[in-house]
Amino acid sequence: MKKECVFCTIKKEEKILETKHCYVYPDKYPLSRGHILIVPKKHYESIMAMPDEVLFDVIKTVKLMEKRLIQRLKVEGMDFRENYRPFVPESNLRKAHIHFHIIPRTFKDMIYRAKGEIKRKEISEKDKAWLIKKLK
Ligand SMILES: [Zn+2]
Repeated sequence: MKKECVFCTIKKEEKILETKHCYVYPDKYPLSRGHILIVPKKHYESIMAMPDEVLFDVIKTVKLMEKRLIQRLKVEGMDFRENYRPFVPESNLRKAHIHFHIIPRTFKDMIYRAKGEIKRKEISEKDKAWLIKKLK
């Protein structure tokens, strides 16, 4: 646990789900409705540092959450990703505590096709509460 780490110190009551090794949270700056994060409880800096048992717990959680997104939010498709970019200074864009994104996608969305960077708005308290309730 690192005191200055956003994922080590995140408010646990804002979680959607807790498993033996990880938490699921709404993304703070969602790229689409239903964008969630799967965050190992322990502070690992990369996938290479994660024990297989924790990796298996993460991937089982991905399976569960993808099912819930389809069933409960009527999501059509999604990206599952992790950004390992140790060359970027730690900031709002990069966290040293590994986490995995599930980003709901549609055929027409402009994620990755927009010119320049997409303006990401912080999730509202209302939307966060709705998502937690919906996916719990
Ligand atoms: Zn951490």
